[in-house]
Amino acid sequence: MDQLPARDPVSGPRSLLDRLFDQGLLVRTGVDGLYGRSGEFESVVEAVDRIATRLGAGDGAESLRFPPGMSRPAFERSGYLKGFPNLAGTIHCFCGNDADHARLLACIEAGTDWTGGQAASEIVLTPAACYPLYPVAAARGALPEGGLLFDLQSYCFRHEPSLEPTRMQMFRMREYVRMGSPDQVLAFRELWLERGTAMMRELGLPIAVDPANDPFFGRAGRMLANNQRAQGLKFELNVPVNSEDKPTACLSFNYHQDHFGTIWDIRQADGEVAHTACVGFGLERITLALLRHHGLDIEAWPDAVRDRLWG
Ligand code: ATP
Ligand code: ZN
Ligand code: MG
Repeated sequence: MDQLPARDPVSGPRSLLDRLFDQGLLVRTGVDGLYGRSGEFESVVEAVDRIATRLGAGDGAESLRFPPGMSRPAFERSGYLKGFPNLAGTIHCFCGNDADHARLLACIEAGTDWTGGQAASEIVLTPAACYPLYPVAAARGALPEGGLLFDLQSYCFRHEPSLEPTRMQMFRMREYVRMGSPDQVLAFRELWLERGTAMMRELGLPIAVDPANDPFFGRAGRMLANNQRAQGLKFELNVPVNSEDKPTACLSFNYHQDHFGTIWDIRQADGEVAHTACVGFGLERITLALLRHHGLDIEAWPDAVRDRLWG
């Protein structure tokens, strides 16, 4: 098993990212945080995804899969731009005529900016797997007595280029989302905190559960972040991957209170605004944590870990 370097291995000559490239587990595209994945890498991602399915089997979650883009009006209403304008990714498309086309090609030819004529389309990139869900749930009317539970998985986009392999611009998030009363959603979060912790231990990963906050943008964001932390709204399951000093959040547990319920007018059966919570599994991050701790040769991983994943 390789040793965790004491600090900041990312800037070293053979960083974890370099070694993942050397090994062919991740494939360079020329953009930091945007990588191809090998079949081997994917086999781990899929195994982790299956464990998440097994852990939730029996809860009666409704499975939904959205593509990695969502409606722009829904995105605008979700409030994402208030908190994270710097992370959002929008899809722009060419909507011009022949003359505009000629201008575009001339720019490419000259190596100048060709994107001026691109117009915002009706689609934005999904920032977290649960964002496309809320309007869909809201459109169904008030929640049933027991609330609702969903199972999601999506590629997500965040504009946060990095040399840490764990901070990708496009990555997959597996989520369970609970909607209902505060008691219902808090019990859900508690249950998944236990399940997630047990899963990571069984995978032989050293973990710490820590209170966390989202990186809300700007000065107003600092207050939101402090508030989120003080109220214990977000917890993360952290594993040292890039360094011991700055462990990586591999699973997150978020209590949104009535944030999405109010925005989307999702009601409980008794007419009160619904509360929501979600648990997010970072599929690439868990895979990278396994590679970091059990080595880059997946065949040589401990039997107990391989059994958990593929047994
Ligand atoms: P971090 O604090 O490291 O930025 P986060 O708080 O932004 O993480 P969430 O928004 O809670 O993460 O997303 C849910 C899960 O998705 C995280 O627990 C993590 O495993 C994964 N994740 C988040 N951002 C990335 C990323 N840039 N690349 C890969 N996985 C990510
Ligand atoms: Zn979520
Ligand atoms: Mg983040």
